[in-house]
Amino acid sequence: DKAYINGEWLKVGKTFPVTNPYNGKIVGHAADCNKQHAQDAIEVAKTAFGSWKETCSKERAKILLKWHQLILSSSQRLAELITVENGKPITEALTEVAFGATFVEWLAEEAKRNYGTTIPTPHPNKRLMSIKQPIGVAGMITPWNSPNSMITRKACSAIAAGCTVVLKPSEETPFCALALAKLGEEAGLPPGVLNIVPTSRERTPEVGEVICTHPDVAAVSFTGSTATGKHLLELSASTVKKVSLELGGLAPFIIFDSADIEKAVQGVIASKFRYMGQTCVCANRIFVQESIHDEFVSKLVAAMKKELILGDTMDPNVTIGPLINEKAVQKVESHVEDAVRLGAKVVYGGKRGPTSLFYEPTLLTNINEQMKCLNEETFGPVAPIMKFKSEEEVLDMANDTRFGLAGYFYSNDVDQCWRVAEKLEVGMVGINEGFVNTAEAPFGGVKESGLGREGSQFALDEFTEMKYMCWGV
Ligand code: ADP
Repeated sequence: DKAYINGEWLKVGKTFPVTNPYNGKIVGHAADCNKQHAQDAIEVAKTAFGSWKETCSKERAKILLKWHQLILSSSQRLAELITVENGKPITEALTEVAFGATFVEWLAEEAKRNYGTTIPTPHPNKRLMSIKQPIGVAGMITPWNSPNSMITRKACSAIAAGCTVVLKPSEETPFCALALAKLGEEAGLPPGVLNIVPTSRERTPEVGEVICTHPDVAAVSFTGSTATGKHLLELSASTVKKVSLELGGLAPFIIFDSADIEKAVQGVIASKFRYMGQTCVCANRIFVQESIHDEFVSKLVAAMKKELILGDTMDPNVTIGPLINEKAVQKVESHVEDAVRLGAKVVYGGKRGPTSLFYEPTLLTNINEQMKCLNEETFGPVAPIMKFKSEEEVLDMANDTRFGLAGYFYSNDVDQCWRVAEKLEVGMVGINEGFVNTAEAPFGGVKESGLGREGSQFALDEFTEMKYMCWGV
């Protein structure tokens, strides 16, 4: 029931309950920070920045590597927290903790490689160079679907660069954020470098507004819905912050007739049904070329029956848990109802499951472009399968959206692989692969799916400013 500000665990007066989506039980009561707490956190982060930016990168890397170790040795506890807060089955939650830890390690290493440049001079009496400097206090707002790895990916980029952080976790998953901060404290992060200000849904807008408009916040990093992202981008304009956004997607998943069908089926299982379809890179629109459509559908149904196991989220064999909340289930229901009304056929699933927030993994065929499931992110375990005839036709459909996060396709025609990979209007492409995330590669979107990249050799760029120096000689 506490916030973490300036290295202290603070009671803030009010609290709000956090519930387990699997059984509706209260996991705990979290501190409900208000505007003032956010302002206090920004102030201490500003003070801490004064000394943190002066530390050498090797020292920052050392603390991050210690944090990495502590996360790994606490992975069971951290995974259980994910499971009780957001309903992710325990085996998948353990995978998330391991994945989250890779960012801490990678960014610790990248801290040491934040190189500047020397620039060949065209002027005999001038010497030119650039250096990279930490931008200042970074404000962060994170979602519930990856409550551990989304925080390590963002916060460690800023911390590695020499910035300090004020982070508002999702109201669904505040304890995952606080548990990470506790381990960061043990690893030796100085007070004020990482501050966590949980808030209830009611207070979220006021705290968000402080983070995005406070003149002492230099950068804002957000992952969540496109609507919220646009709002925060607007707020951030008033003080010209450096903004990075990871927003919604509408990932196309295309299977061409030369594809290895078994491999493509496994790709769809990984991409579509990971965390019940509640990630922004999950396949949303599955396009299958005519000649292999029926075979693909029957193989996918067989794999879904065998591999997607609903049940107690703490059971290591379970792969499908509940959705995050009632609103999420209703959205999925409305997409399925809308599709059925417009002629879709439910081949598998299509209703709620064992406890109230479950929705069965569902496969729909006879899909057309009028249906909601082809135009809006479903964020649930529904695989709509649409037939297509030609490469040109499917590329037109795949690109006919304002979203552009991930895209996937399966083909064994090498020329086609190059063509399609280059033509898909997305930030990340999986070619004969349904899972592309890794700390070493740049994660991010084009169009209205986002700004900036996370992870990779470019991660620190979002939190650094390049300073050019011109020396007269
Ligand atoms: P979702 O619908 O998946 O919860 P959101 O974009 O609403 O997606 O949530 C992602 C994060 O954005 C959460 O931490 C949430 O609290 C936060 N958020 C939602 N609305 C606002 C807002 N008006 N200002 C700041 N943060 C917000």
